[in-house]
Amino acid sequence: MRILIAEDDEVLADGLSNSMRHSGYAVDCVRDGQAAKLILSGEQPFDLVILDLGLPKLDGFSVLRCLRESNRQVPVIILTARDGEGDRVKGLDLGADDYMIKPFSLPELEARVRALIRRGQCGMNPVYSCGKLTFDSVARRTMIDGIPLELTTRELSVLEALMLRTGWVVSKEQLLERLYSYSEEASNNAIEVYIHRLRKKVEPAGVTIRTIRGLGYVIDNLLQPAN
Ligand code: CA
Repeated sequence: MRILIAEDDEVLADGLSNSMRHSGYAVDCVRDGQAAKLILSGEQPFDLVILDLGLPKLDGFSVLRCLRESNRQVPVIILTARDGEGDRVKGLDLGADDYMIKPFSLPELEARVRALIRRGQCGMNPVYSCGKLTFDSVARRTMIDGIPLELTTRELSVLEALMLRTGWVVSKEQLLERLYSYSEEASNNAIEVYIHRLRKKVEPAGVTIRTIRGLGYVIDNLLQPAN
């Protein structure tokens, strides 16, 4: 899951992004409305946007309007220091999905992020399985035969990308995109290390992660029923 944070308050933006990264999301931060508009009109898909209304260069309302006019349905939570009802109504009317008034509690914001992501997956089963391995995309928890599997947040993100496309090849580039935001140094070697560690951890579930040379990786159930 990839989140964009558009917030010009450096302390708040750092606190938010650290906390989101800790929860296993890939996070990109921008500090003004122009940059937000630019990155949101690019190729990189985001699963959620946290948008401050009072941004330099272009305000949050304008960013939101551009986003919705370009028909992008990504969920948006607006952040506002303004406690005026009018701003909240305007934000929601422009297509925001939720709002938080500053100062807000981080656990509450995280709960709202999870709720929106869950709503975005409405009608889809949030639990993916492969062999005895299950991945709950909302609780972000992996189990083997109902027993929780200990994974680092990066390992979890790699496994998530693979399990959302069980039986299909996921390229190294796709894994890198999920794992790293633009500001972070990413390397193919790091992906190989995570895959190596994951392979050992998911083996007891009868699951294998195969390397498809030149293409990427595919997660498969070794214990397919024979029919
Ligand atoms: Ca601001």
